Amino acid sequence: MSDYELKKRIYSLFSVAALVLPATALFVLLWRQVYNYMTTFPYYFKGFVMLSFMYALLMAFFLKVADGVQTVYFHRVEPVLSMVPSVLAVNLIFYMVTCLLSTYLVPVKGFLVLTLADMVMLLILIRLFGFLRDKILGEQKLLLIYDHHLPREVERICAGWDGAYKIDRVICADEGFDKCKKAINKYGAVVLCDLPVELRDRVAEYCQEKKVATYYTPGLSDMVFQSGHGLHYFESRILKQKTKELTMAQRFTLLGYLKKVYRGSSQTLYERVRERIEKGEKDFIVTANPQTLMSALYDEELDKVIRGEDTLVVPDGYGLIVALKLAGFGDYQKIAGVEFAKLLLKMADIKSLRVFLYGASDEVIHRMQELVKKEYPHAMLVGAYNGYDNDHDEIMEKAVSAKPDIFMAALGVPAQEKLIASYFDRFDRGVFLGVGGSFDVLSGYKKRAPGIFLDLNLEWLYRICTEPSRIRKFMQSNLYFMSELKRIKSIQ
Ligand code: UDP
Repeated sequence: MSDYELKKRIYSLFSVAALVLPATALFVLLWRQVYNYMTTFPYYFKGFVMLSFMYALLMAFFLKVADGVQTVYFHRVEPVLSMVPSVLAVNLIFYMVTCLLSTYLVPVKGFLVLTLADMVMLLILIRLFGFLRDKILGEQKLLLIYDHHLPREVERICAGWDGAYKIDRVICADEGFDKCKKAINKYGAVVLCDLPVELRDRVAEYCQEKKVATYYTPGLSDMVFQSGHGLHYFESRILKQKTKELTMAQRFTLLGYLKKVYRGSSQTLYERVRERIEKGEKDFIVTANPQTLMSALYDEELDKVIRGEDTLVVPDGYGLIVALKLAGFGDYQKIAGVEFAKLLLKMADIKSLRVFLYGASDEVIHRMQELVKKEYPHAMLVGAYNGYDNDHDEIMEKAVSAKPDIFMAALGVPAQEKLIASYFDRFDRGVFLGVGGSFDVLSGYKKRAPGIFLDLNLEWLYRICTEPSRIRKFMQSNLYFMSELKRIKSIQ
C-alpha cells in the first residue's frame, strides 16, 4: 500500500470517529435531559456508556454502509444522500428502543430536534473534512493506461472527483507490458482505461502484487455482468478495483466448477464406487470445499484436475453446500471426506479389496495400519507410507505395482490431488481419493469436532478454534467465495 493510500485510510478512520462522536454526544445529552426518566428503569453511569456505545456503533455502521464516510466525493450531493438516511435510520431505531424501554409512545419532538441538529452538524463537518482533506492529503497523482485511443472524458471525470485525483502520466498499452510495469512501479495509483478484459486483468494483477491502488473505467462486460446497479455508468464513473475480486473469466470458471459438483449422497457415491471397482473401472474423487475451488482459480494444475473428465468433485464442507444453494443450484448433501474414507475401508473389508494408504505422519500411518488390521481384517493393505519421509514418485511407482482397488492420499490440498492426477493414467482400475487430514482423525491422533458441532454444521468453526492458524486461509477463501456468489448467480 502506498503512503498516500495509508494516509487516506487513516484519514477516513479519523473522519468516521469525528462524525460519530459529536452525534453520539448530542444523543446522550438529549436522552439524559428528556427521555431517561420516562423509561421504566432510568440509567446512571454504566447505562449511559452502553447506550452511547450502541448509538456510535450503529451510526458508524449506517454511515459506512451508505458510503457516507468516503474521503472523496464525485458530487457534492453524495455525502448528503448517504448521511440523511443514516441519521434518520439510527434515530428512528433509538426512538423505537426508547418507546420499548418506557412501555408507551414517548413524545417524538426530542428525536426530531436531534435528527435536525445531527444533519446540520454532520453537513458542516463533512464540508470541513472535505476542505481539510485537500490540505492534508493533497491530490493523488495517477498513471493512466489506455488502449489505442485516449478518451479525453476520463481526465474530466478524474478532475470531477473533488479535484482529488490528477492524471500525471498517460501511457498506451501498445507500448508493451514491460513498459507499463515500469511506469506502474513509480505510482501509488493507476487508472486502467478501456483495456481489453484479459489485458486489464493482467495489469490489475500486477498492480495488486505491487499494492498499487487500481481504478478502471467499466467496460461493456462489467455493465452486462455486474448490472447497471452501482456502476452509475451514465456518469462513466471510475471504479476502484477491489483487491482479490475475481476476474470475469474466473467467475465463469467458478461457475463451471459448481456445475460439476456431485449431487448424490454418501450412499449413492458408495454404490457408484462399488460398481466401478466391480467392473474394473477407475474413479478419481476430489473432496472439495470453498478453499479447494478458490485455490484452483489460481493454480493451473489444480484447475485441470477439477475440470478433468475423470474427476468427480464431491462437496466436503458446509460452506460449499451453502454456496451452491445461494448460487441457485438447489440442495446438495455434504459428503465428508473422513466419513467416506471410513465407508471405503468398510467396503474393502466386506469385499476383501486391496488398499493403499499414503500420507500423514509416521505415527499416524502406523496407527492406520493397526486400525485396518483390527477393524477391517479382510481388507488387504498393499501399501502404507507416511507423507513426510518418502519420495512421492517412488511411492507412486510402488502404488502402480501394488494395483490397489482403493488408493487414499492424505497429503493436503492440492498436493494429494495433483499427485493422483499425474499418475492416474498409469493405473488400470480402482478408486483414487484425496482425504486431507482424515488419517489423523480416523487413527484417533486428532479429534473430530464433537457431535453438536457436526449436527449444527459448525465443524469449520471447531477446526478454526482448535487450529487458529487456519483462520487466515479460511477467511480468505470462504469470504471471497461467498461474496462472488451473487455475481455468479447473475451470469447463469
Ligand atoms: N501431510 C503430509 N505431508 C506433507 C504435508 C502434510 O503427509 O508434506 C499430511 C498432514 O500430516 C495431514 C494431511 O497431510 O495429515 C493434511 O491435512 P490438512 O488437514 O492440513 O489438509 P486439508 O484437509 O486441510 O487439505
